[in-house]
Amino acid sequence: MFNFAFYNPTKILFGKGQIASISKEIPASAKVLITYGGGSIHKNGVYEQVMQALEGRTVLEFGGIEPNPEYDTLMGAVELARREKVDLLLAVGGGSVLDGTKFIAAAVPFAGEPWDILTKGAAVDSAVPLACVLTLPATGSESNTFAVVSRRSAGQKLAFGSVHCYPKFAVLDPETTFSLPQRQVANGIVDAFVHTLEQYMTFPVHAELNDRFAEAILQTLIEVGPKTLAEPENYDLRATFVWSATMALNGLIGSGVPQDWATHMIGHELTALYGIDHARTLATVVPHLFRVQADGKREKLLQFAERVWGIRTGTDDERCEAAIRKTEEFFESLGLPTRLSQYPEVKPETPALVAKKLESNGAVKLGERQDITPKTVEEILSRSLA
Ligand code: NAP
Ligand code: FE
Repeated sequence: MFNFAFYNPTKILFGKGQIASISKEIPASAKVLITYGGGSIHKNGVYEQVMQALEGRTVLEFGGIEPNPEYDTLMGAVELARREKVDLLLAVGGGSVLDGTKFIAAAVPFAGEPWDILTKGAAVDSAVPLACVLTLPATGSESNTFAVVSRRSAGQKLAFGSVHCYPKFAVLDPETTFSLPQRQVANGIVDAFVHTLEQYMTFPVHAELNDRFAEAILQTLIEVGPKTLAEPENYDLRATFVWSATMALNGLIGSGVPQDWATHMIGHELTALYGIDHARTLATVVPHLFRVQADGKREKLLQFAERVWGIRTGTDDERCEAAIRKTEEFFESLGLPTRLSQYPEVKPETPALVAKKLESNGAVKLGERQDITPKTVEEILSRSLA
């Protein structure tokens, strides 16, 4: 196992009715800016619950944060938060609202041009305190440092991370997710599954406990995912899914092990080019990446085949391929295509385009071995498009 520091300060408030407990977490004198998306929180009662819990505080609102949050939109909130000198940003919604709010939090005290945080990796030395009420299990953003922001005019979708962007607390009430469209539930299952794979499907470093944690999350998603999709208001199924998505990307399973993340990097470019949902891009990349990178990932692919899918017969190559096929079938059973060729809008020149774009952003050595070059990216996407 590699050396590591594990630090996750986010207080998780999990369960039914937990929105009410926000009142104990926020001082009565606080000036709070609530951020939200396109209006789902007005339809499912979450907004009322939040406002009730915040009674007595000065509350400002900023709505309209879109899926794949847009830089120009977020800068409107930065202006408002600076002008009003808010004490706390409270994100209410899915990963996009939360990621956008992390960016707002970092941009408010930032001295230069906040775009540099995303393009130049400019240091984030402080942030406005933030917290969240998460209504969509998928990203793990509720207890991690990461955020992904898009700037459509520049064709960019870029990530940053800062220890100052851990939410102070995260409310996870599974009942707030009952109103999700099936498509978003399916996307969430696949996003969490791929987060786990990005930290698991790498070369082994004798991190048995990490492997077992990851395998537990993968198996739980395989078991509970289809059930929670079929029974959206079954509390126990949904609660298990919500907690799995959080655990998949809160730093725990990635501590002390190599991590890949090339699928996410490539996926972000596909969203930037075509607006394809985040998880849907991952489903069209990860199986093909595993095939192209099978040599370096062989030991773990074989372990995944046996422990997660119960595949025990066949040659090494056959078992690796069977595990990848099982993964594709799982994604497809949830309604997510696993080939770019299933998206009519994706042009034949896409593999070269994405490779070039990553190269121009300096992303030329991806993956846990840093051996995924622009050429490899082209090969992965060409297979997906075939
Ligand atoms: P999302 O983009 O936040 O939300 C998708 C849609 O779901 C929105 O239209 C939203 O509507 C709706 N929605 C959310 N909660 C709802 C509810 N309870 N009932 C009904 N509708 C609801 O989706 P996401 O998958 O959570 O976030 C995707 C973004 O996160 C991408 O930009 C991706 O790149 C990023 N990401 C971040 C991390 C990380 O670690 N930070 C990891 C992976 C991905 P409203 O707008 O009306 O609320
Ligand atoms: Fe993701």
